[in-house]
Amino acid sequence: MHEISLVRTIFRTLSDNFSAEELDRVEAIVLKVGPLANVEPILMQNAFGAVVEEEETRFRESKLQINTVPILVHCPVCEQNSEVVQYRFVCGVCGKPCANVVQGNELLIERVVFRD
Ligand SMILES: [Zn+2]
Repeated sequence: MHEISLVRTIFRTLSDNFSAEELDRVEAIVLKVGPLANVEPILMQNAFGAVVEEEETRFRESKLQINTVPILVHCPVCEQNSEVVQYRFVCGVCGKPCANVVQGNELLIERVVFRD
């Protein structure tokens, strides 16, 4: 289950960027995930729960929030961005085939919320 290693990577990133005192006050970790990132939010939540329970107990009071964003393509013909619906990679404006993805591959920490 590759979500486990993703969750570990998230905790490692937090540990690299925040002090121990700050890490004890993490209320929520907000992820930005695109549909092309190959991440299933429910599996991600399960992995988060398992890792917090067994390895990263300081995050027991923390929540994982997953914000999914739509796939956007940029059309080279009409120069517009449009949303890809049901994995049909066509320009939503002019209808030409378009696989020039500008959003949808994301898997990143958007924000970390701390308790006071
Ligand atoms: Zn177009």
